[in-house]
Amino acid sequence: MNGARPCSSDQRAYTFEQLGGGPDRTRTCGLRFRKPPLYPSELRGRPVVFSATRALVQVIWERRPKRNGAGPVKKGEGSGKLDPRLVPRAVLDVLRRLSSGGHEAWLVGGGVRDLLREKRSRPPKDWDIATAARPDEVMRLFRRVIPTGVKHGTVTVLTKSAPVEVTTFRGEAGYTDARRPDRVEFIDRIEEDLARRDFTINAIAWNPFSGELRDPFGGMEDLRRGLVRAVRDPLERFTEDGLRPMRAVRLACVLEISLEEKTAAAIPQALGSFGKVAIERVRQEIERIMLAPRPSIGLALMRKTGLLESVIPELAREEEEAFVTRLRAIDGTERMLHLRLAILLSEQIEGGGSVSTPSQILEGLRFPRSVVASVETLLGVADWRSLESMRPADRRRILARVGLENAKDVACLWRALASSHGDSEQAGKVAFLASELEAEAKRCPPVSAKDLAITGREIMSLLGLGPGPKVGEAISYLLDIVIEDPRRNEPDELRAALEAWWE
Ligand code: ATP
Ligand code: MG
Repeated sequence: MNGARPCSSDQRAYTFEQLGGGPDRTRTCGLRFRKPPLYPSELRGRPVVFSATRALVQVIWERRPKRNGAGPVKKGEGSGKLDPRLVPRAVLDVLRRLSSGGHEAWLVGGGVRDLLREKRSRPPKDWDIATAARPDEVMRLFRRVIPTGVKHGTVTVLTKSAPVEVTTFRGEAGYTDARRPDRVEFIDRIEEDLARRDFTINAIAWNPFSGELRDPFGGMEDLRRGLVRAVRDPLERFTEDGLRPMRAVRLACVLEISLEEKTAAAIPQALGSFGKVAIERVRQEIERIMLAPRPSIGLALMRKTGLLESVIPELAREEEEAFVTRLRAIDGTERMLHLRLAILLSEQIEGGGSVSTPSQILEGLRFPRSVVASVETLLGVADWRSLESMRPADRRRILARVGLENAKDVACLWRALASSHGDSEQAGKVAFLASELEAEAKRCPPVSAKDLAITGREIMSLLGLGPGPKVGEAISYLLDIVIEDPRRNEPDELRAALEAWWE
């Protein structure tokens, strides 16, 4: 097993060739494969270490034939490209078992859509199966199942590699609250099931064994043209479930395609229904927009369709130019939620009307406390315009406020904000100061009480005090000294300084 040995340490350090992969992808880590392996399951049982397996699968996936770049699927591409080998074996096993139990079963939803696009740099994350089998029949067929939403026909089958959602063909009726159907009825035909789905590109069913496709609403054509189009009448679909407008915008953003004209035009009329949706569901969609390669697409669509006015009115009323600058900064920075939210809410939003603080806005959207706190921390030091020059001690003071671990995020924030404002000289200066901040953090200077060369206990015994505000003051005083000059962070030096301060 010589071939496997090089893979056993840091997986990222190895190329496919270094891992022993031959040009025909049939030799990998010294192992022979009749067909190129595509998934970890195909390597399972082979004497290859786990990290190597991960590395190989990643490399193999990245090297699969694919188009580059975002945007609509090119003409002429489509169903012919659907390859069952791109579906995890465990998902195929679920389909197979349903079929051999005599139940019609199809792959549907985002998995099929994303395979048709071949757009992802990783295999689709979740797979949905639609079947004629009733939930109780599905539960009898599999050993490990969770009855996630039996009433609505959904059970989750736990497979070795991932959970798979299996939903019985269903129709929906009566949406009195614009959130969920009042009742669902189980049906026998896949076409009727596809008819209750939101967008044509999500309403394609595929049987990976027979290769058969059902696409009653022209989803493949819409994928080719790069369109998110509602299944049937958009306004009706949007008023049934007020989240759908937000899903439309999120899909257009994540897939980098357009909203079809009538679908887009129906959104302003459906804002009443959108207002009834639980804010947590809206927040999840916003989160996915913020983590997309280019959130600007989604945020601009939200603004144009009126969704932003319902969610963050301050931003919706901001002047076009300032808003566009904000979007440019967000697109230009790393895909980290707190960082991008900080950019979204940075600087005074001059939208008029009621003005909430960034924290109030995020809390209103029910972002977790940890996210709100990280954004607050970043916004506390976001003022890149005041960064004329920074002494080393100034840098350490900023690090003391945000914590050494956040230096990189602060640097990213400054760079993104400065470069989006178009003044390249200023942007260059800020970028330089940002690198200096990062370099300073790497030196791990003392910036918090725990870094002091004497402990809190020792400070209390030196001052003859118990815990209390005076001790806090003493610690701040000492921190000030060592932030100004880290060389003074020595026990004797600090003891002497403390005594002088106390007298
Ligand atoms: P992704 O997983 O990438 O978010 P997805 O399309 O798979 O995309 P899911 O939320 O996993 O989204 O839903 C699976 C499928 O269920 C969708 O493709 C769509 O057909 C249908 N669906 C989901 N939510 C709705 C909805 N609110 N209204 C109508 N159909 C929906
Ligand atoms: Mg999905």
